[in-house]
Amino acid sequence: MSVNNHTRLLKHIPAVDEVLKKPDIAGLTRSIPRVLVLKAIRDTISQLREELVAGRLQVDKEQQARDFFMAIVIKRAIHEANLLNRSNLRRVLNVTGVVLHTNLGRAVLGENARQAINHAASGYSNLELDLATGKRGSRYAPVEQLLARLTGAEAALVVNNNAAAVLLALGTLARGKEVIVSRGQLVEIGGSFRIPEVMAQSGARLVEVGATNKTYASDYQKAITAETALLLHVHTSNYRIVGFTRETSIAELVELGRAYKLPVMSDLGSGSLVDLAEHGFPVEPTVQQVVKEGADVVTFSGDKLLGGPQAGIIVGKKEYLDCMKKNPLTRAVRIDKFTVSALEATLREYIDPNTVWERIPTLAMLTADINILQQKAHSLCAELTAAAGDLALFTPVQTSSAVGGGALPTADLPSWAVEVIPRDMTIFDLAGKLRETEPAVIGRLQDGKLLMDVRTLLPGDEKTLVEVVAGVLKGGARV
Ligand SMILES: *Cc1c(COP(=O)(O)O)cnc(C)c1O
Repeated sequence: MSVNNHTRLLKHIPAVDEVLKKPDIAGLTRSIPRVLVLKAIRDTISQLREELVAGRLQVDKEQQARDFFMAIVIKRAIHEANLLNRSNLRRVLNVTGVVLHTNLGRAVLGENARQAINHAASGYSNLELDLATGKRGSRYAPVEQLLARLTGAEAALVVNNNAAAVLLALGTLARGKEVIVSRGQLVEIGGSFRIPEVMAQSGARLVEVGATNKTYASDYQKAITAETALLLHVHTSNYRIVGFTRETSIAELVELGRAYKLPVMSDLGSGSLVDLAEHGFPVEPTVQQVVKEGADVVTFSGDKLLGGPQAGIIVGKKEYLDCMKKNPLTRAVRIDKFTVSALEATLREYIDPNTVWERIPTLAMLTADINILQQKAHSLCAELTAAAGDLALFTPVQTSSAVGGGALPTADLPSWAVEVIPRDMTIFDLAGKLRETEPAVIGRLQDGKLLMDVRTLLPGDEKTLVEVVAGVLKGGARV
């Protein structure tokens, strides 16, 4: 058809009102706000117009153009309206094998923590009311008592995240003064948290000592001046210096601190209240151990190995924590009622050391039995093959998972996955389409293969995963 003919066809494009009257579209406005449906129709119509003008749309007979265009507009507008109506924060099936995946929201909360959030959200609570006296209470009180009990520390404080905890601690204890840190511990955590920069922000001055690979207590000692306010130990969360190395232990720093009357702070990053070495992980001091060794202030995250909501937890000596509580910054980084409720429920799980490994999903996934993972991969593989075996080759394979969240970077976590080789598309296309489904599926691309590691696939999600993957392979990405 000539350009003139394309242009002539424009008059057959339906009007917005006509489209709105069609039953499929009218039905849509019952579940999707009318403004979004209208926008979807308008966008679809102008897109169709552009395609026609550019000659990208073929119409055989002009008499059929009207029905043809209407059908296209309805189909595309429904798709478009659904896209406009879905929230940006979407559910994801994590088959990356990374248990604490920062991009995927880190820790999955346990059942009790989820319920606690639900209660806090559904009604009023005594967030800042002491029900015994009827007077104003503290939102922190329930978690502070639990933290003190679980870690053996005198006092506790909870803020928005561990980055805020470190900032608050440094700003309170060392503003305008010097903080001594080993050169081997000037870490950068993903998302622009760098010790030298946080230090600058807090108003404290960084004094680096030692070498990248070796720092002795004497290095700290030589750097102590009248300006020194704090000795800081930072957990090198996401990397290891191996080979010819020497770190100064917390115990050594505490001894030095006592001699010079200086507080010692330990930023543990991903502090754990249970000993993961019992399950074959590299030996890491627990929060309790660091407190027992005498650290005056210990900071760690709520949503890393602890397996709770995003939070920064500070435990330690009462005199230092009382100063932090008076710092106006504490109010600016205060936690909300959802965090209080989920954190309390999470911490309560730690009261019983026997059940905590199953009740905190992070711990359960990290310590999952390899035989169970193997079974899970085989049964997932069988289901996928039954659902879409003609469109892809599925194979159970051995792989390695990761802890993630900048914790235990050298831990070797043998695991099982299902490898997918699609017949009609590349694995990059498949991975891309799986990111568009509802829920989205995020796997791992490794050595030219798409792996779905079953360690991080949550109980009850297998069926959905099979449906979604089969749907994408069959060409109809679900919206
Ligand atoms: C993760 C981490 C932080 C930051 O904690 P967030 O809770 O993510 O703010 C700070 N310090 C160390 C050593 C960490 O590993």
